[in-house]
Amino acid sequence: MISCFDIGGSFIRHGELRQDGTVSETGRVATPGADWHAFVQAIDKCSKKSQEPISISLAGAYDERSGIADVANIPCLHKRHVQMDLEAALGRPVVITNDANAFALAEAIDGTGRGKPVVFGIILGSGVGGGLVVNGSLVTGVGGMAGEWGHGPVMDPTAGGQITGLEHYPCGCGQVGCIDATCSARGMERIHASLHGAQLASRDITATWHDGETQAAETIEAFTTLLARALSVLVNTLGPDVIPVSGGLSNDAILLDLIDRKTRALVLADYASPLVVKGQFAENGGLHGAGIVARTKFRREKA
Ligand SMILES: [Zn+2]
Repeated sequence: MISCFDIGGSFIRHGELRQDGTVSETGRVATPGADWHAFVQAIDKCSKKSQEPISISLAGAYDERSGIADVANIPCLHKRHVQMDLEAALGRPVVITNDANAFALAEAIDGTGRGKPVVFGIILGSGVGGGLVVNGSLVTGVGGMAGEWGHGPVMDPTAGGQITGLEHYPCGCGQVGCIDATCSARGMERIHASLHGAQLASRDITATWHDGETQAAETIEAFTTLLARALSVLVNTLGPDVIPVSGGLSNDAILLDLIDRKTRALVLADYASPLVVKGQFAENGGLHGAGIVARTKFRREKA
């Protein structure tokens, strides 16, 4: 039985690839973040010490050409040749996919983008990520970074534009004013703090916005404007048939609808129906995407 894993900073979710190509989730364990030996043992135990291949969705950047992962929140994997080292430790084939890419693949093959040529899956959660699938194939790009639209400044460094009172928030990538730092759930909280001097969690900001509260409405207006502007560049560049969304903010249907309408109003093409929609695999895109990689790579190799 091919084992599939969705490895995040807090939890490892695991499952088994069924004959019909779906993944049945078998459980989750805490991620041994700092201990490589414990990490290997956890993977081995969760996959029932079988000799079958393993397919992993990893919450971090992964360059399949160099084989090196960039996962600052899982120190034992950070800057490691994860695939090579896991194969050596477990004695079986391992394939690794970045989690946003796994989600995009799940949507393009079996989800909202099924049968559609260009699918750009995005994550709107504590950070911002994405993955591009064209004609059913994942585009990984130089350094495995294709689809990572969250980095690169979105804020106007001269300020004084249509939205005033915002700072240029520092980003984990070392730049300032990135989409990731501004248009994520954390970004929404930063915008709210800049505009109103109040520290509120993103879910409280959206809840009070739904209740008609003025300050939250101003925050959401600025947040969705910046996000729609960034997305409009992507839409004009890629011509996606659908932009499925995963991550915590994808659970707010009213927010997604607003982001969708504002984005479609800015782009050149005429999208008559919603473009930015909640992904069918918003909750389990990592595992399902790992399953797709496994069934294309290992089952095809086996045949
Ligand atoms: Zn950045």
